[in-house]
Amino acid sequence: MAEIRLQHLAHSYSAHPSGPEDYAIREMDHIWEQGGAYALLGPSGCGKSTLLNIISGLLSPSHGQVLFDGKVVNDLPPEQRNIAQVFQFPVVYDTMTVFDNLAFPLRNQGKSPEQVQARVQEVAEVLDLQRLLQRKARNLSADEKQKVSMGRGLVRDDVSAILFDEPLTVIDPHLKWKLRRKLKQIHEQFNITMVYVTHDQLEASTFADKIAVMYGGQIVQFGTPRELFERPAHTFVGYFIGSPGMNLVDVQPERGGVGFGGIHVPLSEALQARIAQGGWQRLQIGIRPEFIRVWDDTFEAALHSERVHLEDLGTYKILTLLLGGQTFKVRLPEDRVVPEGTVFISFPAQWLMVYADDRLLEVNP
Ligand code: ADP
Ligand code: MG
Repeated sequence: MAEIRLQHLAHSYSAHPSGPEDYAIREMDHIWEQGGAYALLGPSGCGKSTLLNIISGLLSPSHGQVLFDGKVVNDLPPEQRNIAQVFQFPVVYDTMTVFDNLAFPLRNQGKSPEQVQARVQEVAEVLDLQRLLQRKARNLSADEKQKVSMGRGLVRDDVSAILFDEPLTVIDPHLKWKLRRKLKQIHEQFNITMVYVTHDQLEASTFADKIAVMYGGQIVQFGTPRELFERPAHTFVGYFIGSPGMNLVDVQPERGGVGFGGIHVPLSEALQARIAQGGWQRLQIGIRPEFIRVWDDTFEAALHSERVHLEDLGTYKILTLLLGGQTFKVRLPEDRVVPEGTVFISFPAQWLMVYADDRLLEVNP
């Protein structure tokens, strides 16, 4: 088991990168603590596999270091890093039985037949593979093969970490849920550092205690699912996480706060002071659909918006509003009645975020 530390890490697939766009990983520092259950979440092409392959040693980074428990491992080949990696598509020996596939990493380590037997049984049980142990891998279905692949990752007890690269892509939807729970159990049982790559926010938050959100070759936020939801550090996190994503609107600074389309949004003195420092190209406010308050009656500070659309999604409703020429989505309980025409809303200060060039403006309380 190990802490994995990335120092000044960057990677370009191009031999002569000419700018930041040529980097699949832009310079980053990051720590995966020993024993953590982590997800690496981001859209296709953002650099997730590149990052995993650098950690496991399949890829050598253009810049920076990878450290396991404080020791630089850049020059160690994958076999010597003690990392198990499970890929998107199954990697199994077709001509071997399931048992031999699972036993392979253990026999390589010189484990005794008794040890091999015991451990293979244990892992087969966890993954529900017992009745397939004597079958040749080539006769398995795609998701059975992937379970064998995962088993090969889990079977060794000396690994520093297990890296999963979208391992459930080929798995049947009803099995996905089961396997994700299995992985979580395995993590709790063995306390191994696990990094689970996915582009699915639900998958990330059911597996991980902490999620690293990746965008454009960078980790833009590392936090608990709740932190990502309540205080997105980057507009991308606001947009990517949540259903629907955060409302984001371009604003201009004005006396007492910010404004857009003739609408004034008051901000705290501290935020106004931060904004007055200036020095960026773009200023936005962000508020999640769950956090916009809808009032039955007007009051002095109420914003007068116009109802555009109300969509009933069974367990909740999505209300679409127009305010200052901008569209806002509001997520409401299913029993909430919304008037036609003008809707009185407010943005609770606690949930109203301000972004400068896509980064959250923080103020020290
Ligand atoms: P993800 O796993 O998040 O989908 P990848 O790490 O596979 O992203 O890719 C990140 C970026 O690097 C993408 O722009 C992709 O096109 C590029 N890339 C990935 N692998 C290679 C490669 N072998 N050669 C050149 N470019 C690559
Ligand atoms: Mg990938």
